[in-house]
Amino acid sequence: MTPDQRELFDAALAAMANAYAPYSNYPVGAAVRSSSGRVYAGCNVENAAYPQGWCAETSALAAMVSAGETRVVAVLTIAGGELCGTCCGGCRQKLREFADLDVPIWACARDGIRFEFTLGALLPHSFGPEHLA
Ligand code: ZN
Repeated sequence: MTPDQRELFDAALAAMANAYAPYSNYPVGAAVRSSSGRVYAGCNVENAAYPQGWCAETSALAAMVSAGETRVVAVLTIAGGELCGTCCGGCRQKLREFADLDVPIWACARDGIRFEFTLGALLPHSFGPEHLA
C-alpha cells in the first residue's frame, strides 16, 4: 500500500468505526481525495425507514462538497463484511458527478486492498455532467 493509499485507508477505517448500521450490521467506510489533496471520509448511515439511509461514499462526498471542493482524484472504500464490497450503483453515479473516468477506486476489506478499479470500469458508458453542457 502506498502512503497515499494508506492515508485514505486509515481515514475510511476510522469512519467505518462510526458507521450507523444497526439494521444491516454491514458497516462501510469511504474516503475520497480531492484535487486539493485533502481527504474526506464518511460512513454509511442507516435509518429505521430503510430507504432513508445512505452510503459511506455519499457521506464522504457530502463532506467534500460541504468543505467547498468538487473534484475527486481517488476513492477508497472498506466494507466490514466477509466479502469485499464495491460501490453500489447509486454511488458510482454520485462519484461520476465529481470524478473523471480514470479516477482509481480501491475496494478494501479490513485487512487491506482487494481490488483496484477505475470509475470508468465500474460505470461504463455512463451519463455525466458533460451531457448537459
Ligand atoms: Zn452506495
